[in-house]
Amino acid sequence: MAVKKVIRMGHPTLRQVAKEFTKEEILSEETKQLIQDMHDTMMAESGIGIAAPQINVPKSVAIIGIENDNERYPDADPYELITVFNPKITVLDNEEQAFFEGCLSVPGLRGLVKRPRKVKIEYLDMEANKQEIIAEDFVATVFQHEIDHLIGKLYVDRVAPGDLYYNEEFDEFMVPDDEDEEA
Ligand code: ZN
Repeated sequence: MAVKKVIRMGHPTLRQVAKEFTKEEILSEETKQLIQDMHDTMMAESGIGIAAPQINVPKSVAIIGIENDNERYPDADPYELITVFNPKITVLDNEEQAFFEGCLSVPGLRGLVKRPRKVKIEYLDMEANKQEIIAEDFVATVFQHEIDHLIGKLYVDRVAPGDLYYNEEFDEFMVPDDEDEEA
């Protein structure tokens, strides 16, 4: 088990475009260790997703997974752990949805972000096989947030002025309605 340090907003690695993996790289021992470290770090921080750049590895891979009763997103439905190498996103439904997002690289804050509600993700799996998956609703937001990390973007870049909160003030003053219950 190796919990890595999560780098924070302001670190230049978070603004780089992540490098894609070759198939050989995906199958390497080094990459298996990277994925294990990302997983251990995500679990230690109660995250529901993590991208390699967040542990200062500027390569194109992200992990997403929502366990029951996640500490940071207690109302989110469980989602089985998935690892996506070199993911590409296609919007399937442009209708926007708004959820409050947080980020392990932007600790202490929550912000309301509007994103398309349904997307397709094409990626390579742990065996370097091509796969695709369709994500809707909150999980679509989680995928878009993580894949943003691979192109040097942070959710705060997408928050409208006035929609950013400290966690404590968020808990005190924002009573989530049905629309943003994942807050
Ligand atoms: Zn993030």
